[in-house]
Amino acid sequence: MIVFNRPPQTGNEEKYVIQSIKSLKISGDGEFTKRCHRWFEAKLGVPKVLLTTSCTHALEMAAILIDIQPGDEVIMPSYTFVSTANAFVLRGAKIIFVDIRPDTMNIDETLIEAAITEKTKAIVPVHYAGVACEMDTIMDIADRHKLFVVEDAAQGMMGSYKGRALGTIGHFGAYSFHETKNYTSGGEGGLLIINDAEYSLKAEIIREKGTNRSQFFRGMVDKYSWVDIGSSYLMNDMSAAYLWGELEVAEQINDERLKHWKKYFEGLKELEKKGILELPKIPEGCVHNGHMFYIKVKDIQERTELIEFLLAHGVQAVFHYVPLHSAPAGVRFGLFCGEDKYTTSQSEKLIRLPMYYGLTSIEIKSVIEAIKDYFGQSKK
Ligand SMILES: *Cc1c(COP(=O)(O)O)cnc(C)c1O
Repeated sequence: MIVFNRPPQTGNEEKYVIQSIKSLKISGDGEFTKRCHRWFEAKLGVPKVLLTTSCTHALEMAAILIDIQPGDEVIMPSYTFVSTANAFVLRGAKIIFVDIRPDTMNIDETLIEAAITEKTKAIVPVHYAGVACEMDTIMDIADRHKLFVVEDAAQGMMGSYKGRALGTIGHFGAYSFHETKNYTSGGEGGLLIINDAEYSLKAEIIREKGTNRSQFFRGMVDKYSWVDIGSSYLMNDMSAAYLWGELEVAEQINDERLKHWKKYFEGLKELEKKGILELPKIPEGCVHNGHMFYIKVKDIQERTELIEFLLAHGVQAVFHYVPLHSAPAGVRFGLFCGEDKYTTSQSEKLIRLPMYYGLTSIEIKSVIEAIKDYFGQSKK
């Protein structure tokens, strides 16, 4: 069976995790956390990053940092993971869903402005498959309406938009190190990217249970106390050690994924030319990270059939998000603004193919052959 995902493992994770265990300092903000923080701050060129227990939690921190209050409105696509919405719903926000673009499956930036009201507080673009949203337009709208931009870059590490790393363009960005993402901290983990140094201190406090413990350890205050709301959002240092094993070879992982992506693209473009299926589009100025390779077929019936066919031929392919606005909680906490022209119809066509670090060329070829076989295009 060619499985859909395998967590990345490069060989050094184990060594560093053992090193962390032996250091007897395994809680948050230990040596490996510091190393990872320095790596990201240098790589991204941002004033502050904080490792968190998950991307979900990094998004929750962003919602607290921008002081979301009950009744505030937050604009995002409906085609996303529940955490994008939940992080803001937890603070009482109403979610305003906007349609997506069929080419990238990202929020349609031309529809955002019509969704803004006097209650709007933030826009949350999601960089689907590590392909950037149209950030210049989104930042311009946010500037003119004085809104915050929180980038859900859960899938976006190593991706960029016009030379700028995803997650560093809005006010805040969030990465995920869940085992299904390009880099993992051993199953669960995330990163909050703080692009405005003004929020650094407050972010540390929220992450440390609402205390100024981080300042205390830096010797900036002589005792630590409860100063704000917060929770426990620190990644433990063993997880940071695991992640460090992958950051050291971050480029290698990225290069390999991009190679896989190109092989799928080359192998399937003939089918696209014949109008049998659609392949992902990468707009100019966007550099992606090979997070995902998806195809889009005619409709949901064909998708179901193809997934079953592939499974019978030893290939695990999967569909993705069911639009949030059609889910029970989405109906309760959100509202779709304007027409759902693409969100539902495009999401029903999409199939994700096996993609992970360690996937082989032979396996990719078998996946391509199985797809061709289904469509009666096999040359065998
Ligand atoms: C994976 C993912 C998340 C959640 O990440 P966790 O680290 O599992 O909390 C949020 N948003 C998007 C778009 C994701 O793909």
